[in-house]
Order: sequence, then C-alpha cells, then structure tokens
Amino acid sequence: MPIAEKRFSMVIKVQPQHLQAIGNHAANTYPEECCGLLLGVVGEGDKQVVEVWPTANGWNEETAAEFSDAATLTKERRYVIAPEEMLRAHRQGRERQLSIIGIFHSHPDGTAVPSECDRALAWPEYSYIIVSVVQGHPSEIRSWCLEANHQFQPEPIIVEQTGSVP
Ligand SMILES: [Zn+2]
Repeated sequence: MPIAEKRFSMVIKVQPQHLQAIGNHAANTYPEECCGLLLGVVGEGDKQVVEVWPTANGWNEETAAEFSDAATLTKERRYVIAPEEMLRAHRQGRERQLSIIGIFHSHPDGTAVPSECDRALAWPEYSYIIVSVVQGHPSEIRSWCLEANHQFQPEPIIVEQTGSVP
C-alpha cells in the first residue's frame, strides 16, 4: 500500500485522561492558545497516545517577526513550541520507547479546524489535535493529519478506557 494511503487510514487512540489534560491546559491558558506534544507509539494502522506533554506557548515578538502580518499576531492567535522543549520531550520519551507522535493546540473561540498557518507549518507524520475553547470551556476536539499533497485530513480519535501500552 502506498505510504500516503496508509497514513490516510490511520486513527489516533487516546485515553480519557489525555483528552482531560488537553482540555485543562486549553482552559488554563485561555484566551491565549495552548500547545503541547503528544508522546506515544505508532503502530500498523494506528497511533497510540501514551502521554500528553503540555508546553508553554513560546510565541513572542521574535517569532512573530518571521511573519509579514506579525503586528496582528499574538498568543491569542498563534502558538509555537520552543525547539529545546521538543528536544527535552524527545529525549525523555526515547528513554521509555516513546516518540513524539503529534502536537496539540487550542483555538480560543474558534473551531477545531486547522488554520492556513497551521497547515503551512505542519509536518507530515504528526497528528495535530485541535481543541476549540468556547468562552474558556473546552468543547470540540478533533485530530488532523497531512496527506500526500500537504492538505489536512480529519483523523478519527478513538477513546479507549484502558490503555494497552505496548
Ligand atoms: Zn491553529
């Protein structure tokens, strides 16, 4: 099966406490966007989240300067995860045979659908979980994954009560 098709057929498995952790981080950072990493394991047809790794939103004037519409962009509209934070998660995950399998962030008073910027900056292979936060309360949560032509496709989230961590 071609890689693109295989990726397209992926699902992401989470436990209820993972969704809880994402929702809590999103509510706590509201009205700013929250972000974080998803550590887990990639299987044949699925990805399994093992740990939610909340990070600070590293968006600041310096990162904003890379964008032409920087003046209008704040943490309420953008997020960035510092490279050293990625590295720390990567290293600590590796000790436990876990990889960074995705990134989550919130859309304060927005839908759980990726923005054009989310798409442009996204990496293949990663799952992108987006949680909509309506007036401070986490609501819809969806996962997205790039397919071959760098467009996002919805990725089903399967909530499992008991995690069988390989
Ligand atoms: Zn976004």
